[in-house]
Amino acid sequence: MQRLRFDPDLCLKCETVDCIMRCQYIHLEQDRAKEEHDRLVRGRMSSILHECVTCYACEEYCPHGNHPFYLIVERQEALSVHPVPVPIEKSQVVMMGPRGKIRPREVQAPVINMCFFGMMKGGIRGRIFEGVSTIGGPDIFCNLMFLHFARNSTIKERLPVMIGNIMKFHLEPSGVHELICYHDECYGTYTSWAPAFGIEVPFKPVHLFDFMLKRMLDLKDEIRPLGFTVAYQRPCSSRLCPETDSLVDDLFALIGVQRPKRRYEYGRALCCAGVIDAAQRFDLAEENRRKNVEDMRAAGAQYAVFNCPFCFWTLAEPVMKAGMVPIMMSDLCLMAFGQ
Ligand code: SF4
Ligand code: SF4
Repeated sequence: MQRLRFDPDLCLKCETVDCIMRCQYIHLEQDRAKEEHDRLVRGRMSSILHECVTCYACEEYCPHGNHPFYLIVERQEALSVHPVPVPIEKSQVVMMGPRGKIRPREVQAPVINMCFFGMMKGGIRGRIFEGVSTIGGPDIFCNLMFLHFARNSTIKERLPVMIGNIMKFHLEPSGVHELICYHDECYGTYTSWAPAFGIEVPFKPVHLFDFMLKRMLDLKDEIRPLGFTVAYQRPCSSRLCPETDSLVDDLFALIGVQRPKRRYEYGRALCCAGVIDAAQRFDLAEENRRKNVEDMRAAGAQYAVFNCPFCFWTLAEPVMKAGMVPIMMSDLCLMAFGQ
C-alpha cells in the first residue's frame, strides 16, 4: 500500500504550527495547537480530527510541504473519525465507483479530461476550445473527493486503476502525452496527492486555466475587454496547487475584468461550504456562505466566477440572491470573444 511521504520529526520540532494557526475553522491558542498537532503526528486521537472541515487549506499553509491535510485524513481513517455521516460516506463510495465499462476511444491532442463532470461538456465550446477532444466518466475519475470522507484508502485503491485506464484506453493508442484537467481537483491529484503517496503519473497534467490562457494569448486580437468586477471562488483543491492561483489574475487581465480586494481571498479564501453541509454542520455552512457572499458583494463584484462545478452548484443561488451573476470561468472568458 502507498505510504504518505511525511516527516514526523519536522512536525514535532515545528514551533509555528502554521497548518493549525492559520486554519479558519479551528481556533486554538499556539500551545494547544502544538499539543493537539503533536498528538495527531504520534497517531493519537486529537480534537483536530473532529473539528477539521476538510477544506484542504493547511496543505498550502505548511511552509515545509509536509502534507498536514493528507496526514489528517490518514489519521481520521485509522482512528475511525468520520467527518461525514457513515451512510452518506458509504453511498458515495458506491455511487462514484468505477463501472468497468470503459472502451478504447482514439483522441486527438489537446485532450481535456472532464472527470465526473461530463454534464459540463457544453462549456467546452467556442473559440477557446476549438479542436479539443474530451474524455471523462467514472472509470477515469480521480476520486480525490474522498479526502472529504476520511478515505485515503479509496483513492489509493482506485487512482492507479484510473491512471491505467486513461493510458490504455485513450492516451497511449493515440500517442498523446498531455492531459488537460477540466476539474481543478484532478490537477491537484496528479501534481500533489499522487507524488505525496508515491504514485507515478505517466502523462503531463495541464491545468485548464493554463491551457485557456495560452489559447487566449494566441487569439488576443479577438478579445473585447469586458470591464466587469468579478469575485473568484477559489476551490478547496486549489490549496494543493497554489501556484495556479496566479492564472486567475492572468486570465482576468487578458479579458479586462477587475478582481476586487476582498477579505476572503487568496490564502484566506473560504470553502464553498458544500462539504460542510454534507458533514451536517448546517449552522457553520450557512455562516460560511453568508460571510463569503457578503464579502463578494461588499467588494463591489458584479459576477462571481467559479473554477469548480461543485462550488458553482453550492453557491449559485446565494450569489444570485445577493444580486451577482454566477458564471463558470470558461463562460466568462468566452464572453470576451462575444460567445
Ligand atoms: S505540517 Fe508543517 S506547519 Fe504543521 S506542524 Fe508540521 S511542519 Fe509545522
Ligand atoms: S483541512 Fe482546513 S479545516 Fe482542516 S485543519 Fe486543515 S485548514 Fe483546518
